[in-house]
This record gives sequence, C-alpha cells and structure tokens, in this order.
Amino acid sequence: MKIMNIQEKTEQLKKIRDKVIACQKCPLYQTRNLPVVGVGSHDAKVMFVGEAPGASEDATGVPFCGKAGKILDEIIESVGLKRENVYICNVLKCRPPGNRDPLPVEKQTCIPYLKRQIEIIQPKIICAMGNHAAGFIFEQFGLSDKLVGISKLHGQVFDSESFSYPVKIVSLYHPAVATYNPGMKKTLLEDIKVLKEFI
Ligand code: URA
Repeated sequence: MKIMNIQEKTEQLKKIRDKVIACQKCPLYQTRNLPVVGVGSHDAKVMFVGEAPGASEDATGVPFCGKAGKILDEIIESVGLKRENVYICNVLKCRPPGNRDPLPVEKQTCIPYLKRQIEIIQPKIICAMGNHAAGFIFEQFGLSDKLVGISKLHGQVFDSESFSYPVKIVSLYHPAVATYNPGMKKTLLEDIKVLKEFI
C-alpha cells in the first residue's frame, strides 16, 4: 500500500472526482442531476458509506444532506467528531431514478470508485450504513461468510484481509431508519461507540 501525504491524497481524490463527473459507464448519468462523490477529511480515520444518493443529495452533490444526514451528523457528533473529520460517501455516486434500489450491475460498475477512495484515504474503519450497503461491502471485502441480516450484524467490527491494506468494517443501521422509527436512534448511538478506539 502506497503511503501518501495529504497533498497527494487531495490530488488523487480530485482525479476520482473528475472521473466520476465524466463517467458514462452506466445509464444513471442520464437521469441524475449531480453526481455525489464524497465529502470530508482526505485523511479521515473513519469512512461512512451509504447506498446511493437520494433526492436532496442529487440536487446538491453532497452526501447525506437531508433528513438522514441530520441523524448521521448527530451520531458522528456523539463520539466527539464532526462531519469534516470523517469521510462520507456512497456505493453509488449517481441517484437511481425514483430512489429505487441500485441494480447489481450498477453497484459492480461503480465500486472501483469507492475502492479507490478507500485506498487513497486509508481509513482505519469503514462504516457501511444499511442492509444494502453492508451486504455489498461485506461481499467486496471478503466477508461474505460473516454476512447475516443487519439486525444481527449491526455494531460488530470485522477485519477485512482481502483489501490492499488491513481495514476494519462495521455495519450500522441506515440513519434514515431513525427518521421514521425514533427509537432506533438509541441503537445507532450505542453502535457508533465502537468508533472510539479508532479516532
Ligand atoms: N441515503 C444514502 O444512502 N445516501 C445518501 O447520500 C443519502 C441518503
């Protein structure tokens, strides 16, 4: 794994951003408004990954900027971090029309961008948010045998040995669940405490 300084990381991430903006590898570029590449620290120890941009994200180009984003900010702040100390992005960089679930082919086509973001930023731990993101990330990071539903998986930290450097993966409930089920915020606040040893 190449060790990069912050300047190199920023240059490399800019290249990814340019590639995503120009990307026409799947048809989603035709229906999305703005691609949503990622925001936050280029040196983050913690990366949060959701499934795909929603309507607010598509309109602004900023991940988790709507209601679910407010919950995400709250849980991030509960462990003494701010949005700008972590990195936030999604498996898909473009919004699927009508917020439908991403197709397997769309996830396969887009995953190289996320893998490159991870290789550049080199977070110690990746938080996969929601069942879909968790399922796909566990598969991609050699953890298929650990995969059970998010109700059993949430909050458990796993070591991925199959990536270009040893990285930890934890799945969390998607913050959107707490917008319609306020009791879930407690679970999110509990689960996020696992990050304390990585920050
Ligand atoms: N939900 C996601 O999974 N990602 C976003 O960016 C916003 C909502």
